[in-house]
Amino acid sequence: MGINKKITSFITECEKQLAPVFQSYDDVLMFNQEKVLLAMQKNRLAEKHFQTTTGYGYTDEGRDITEQIFADVFGAQRALVRPHIVSGTHAISTALFALLRPGDTLLSITGAPYDTIRTAIGINGGYEGQGTLADYNVAYKQVDLLKDGSFDLENIKASIDATTKVIYIQRSTGYSMRNALDIASIETIINFVKAIKADVLVIVDNCYGEFIEEKEPTQVGADLICGSLIKNPGGGIAPCGGYIAGTNHAVSLAAARLTSPGIAFEVGANLGVVRSYLQGFFLAPKVTNQALKSAVLNAQAFSNLDFEVFPKANAKRSDIIQAIVLKSREQILAFCKGIQAASPVDSYVTPLPWDMPGYESEVIMAAGNFISGSSIELSADSPMKEPYTVYVQGGLTYEHGKIGTMYAMQEMGLHNIL
Ligand SMILES: *Cc1c(COP(=O)(O)O)cnc(C)c1O
Repeated sequence: MGINKKITSFITECEKQLAPVFQSYDDVLMFNQEKVLLAMQKNRLAEKHFQTTTGYGYTDEGRDITEQIFADVFGAQRALVRPHIVSGTHAISTALFALLRPGDTLLSITGAPYDTIRTAIGINGGYEGQGTLADYNVAYKQVDLLKDGSFDLENIKASIDATTKVIYIQRSTGYSMRNALDIASIETIINFVKAIKADVLVIVDNCYGEFIEEKEPTQVGADLICGSLIKNPGGGIAPCGGYIAGTNHAVSLAAARLTSPGIAFEVGANLGVVRSYLQGFFLAPKVTNQALKSAVLNAQAFSNLDFEVFPKANAKRSDIIQAIVLKSREQILAFCKGIQAASPVDSYVTPLPWDMPGYESEVIMAAGNFISGSSIELSADSPMKEPYTVYVQGGLTYEHGKIGTMYAMQEMGLHNIL
């Protein structure tokens, strides 16, 4: 298929090294597949639930059962799962505005949040007066993770005061060079902050984290988790949307914020997405597993070639993102060109960096997807700045992820050094 033989045999060697790692992800997959199946059976999902509704969507059984199934799988009391939540950013910002009031403080304990969330909070300049949290007089504090990626307990304790209403945790790496947080450390830190201030509410940005482990943050004390349906939980099938899950109290506030106080959960026609949401959710444990294996293959291949990678191939993961330090603008362009060429859609175009709304520096994005912008499908992106790190994620099948890795290597000319 035009892939250099040196690359294919190199990748076969990498796969041999990865057998035990792959096995551990398959064990998690088995557990989560059954978890989703049981939730669908328990709620007596039936053909009738796949009906399209329009207009207000009062008594929309398909929407309601979808939300109950998500809640059950995430170990939450309640969930909002809607096409009207337009993205992960919208889910998270809805959750923040739902729980915070003027005079309250939001405390992030995992350092700077994802770029678009910083904009919503009001810490990225240039958006003053557009209705950021800062415009509503919500204060923001941040405690960075320590160098080794662990929580800075001392500073977290010192930063919590009477105004601290919400503690914010970002599970995944986003565009930072740290390992993702696993569920065990999320559990420990939630217990720690709730021991300091019992009524504090914990929001976890769960983007990319779903189905990596057997539990989700809502099963270890988080009040709310938020995510995007064009990432892990949509299974590559959901056409758009986001979810917010958690306690009755917190999700009810989010519903009132998403729609309007009083009508909260009761409105929002499903527009025909129920079948794809639930079929995608059913496939999501497997699709996430395939994306994980694709990420691990990238880690193994590029570290065998002496590139710095985060996380390492055998590290404990909590998201599907693989960061690879490529060191130069040219190598980033070549890597992304290879991923694009390996795509089923738009394979013939060359990705270029651009000024994306809500982001601070130029960003390049490579993806040729069935669902536009879906990053559970194979995709790569990179902010065009030092140290020229590319973030690669997704792969609806492991085999496709593997083809992407080989195309990217070839585009970078790496067969010449094998
Ligand atoms: C993708 C992502 C977001 C934002 O999601 P969008 O759907 O792109 O708006 C937020 N946080 C993290 C960690 C993400 O990966």
